[in-house]
Amino acid sequence: MEECPRCGWPVTEAYEVLSRHLTSEGVVSYTRCACGEVQVRVQPYGPGEVVSASRGDNPPRGAPPRGTR
Ligand SMILES: [Zn+2]
Repeated sequence: MEECPRCGWPVTEAYEVLSRHLTSEGVVSYTRCACGEVQVRVQPYGPGEVVSASRGDNPPRGAPPRGTR
């Protein structure tokens, strides 16, 4: 687990998210720690992750059909 080098706060539990950007590399998050340290974190897209911008005509596999009860 990644931790803040200054205070040891777990980076995954962001104290405050300043901004978030979608890039071709993944999701870039700017977070500020409880101690004031600003960190940049890049989360690459997972292999099975669907980017909404590149959505096709067909629904994604495994999605439950609508209208089922
Ligand atoms: Zn910190």
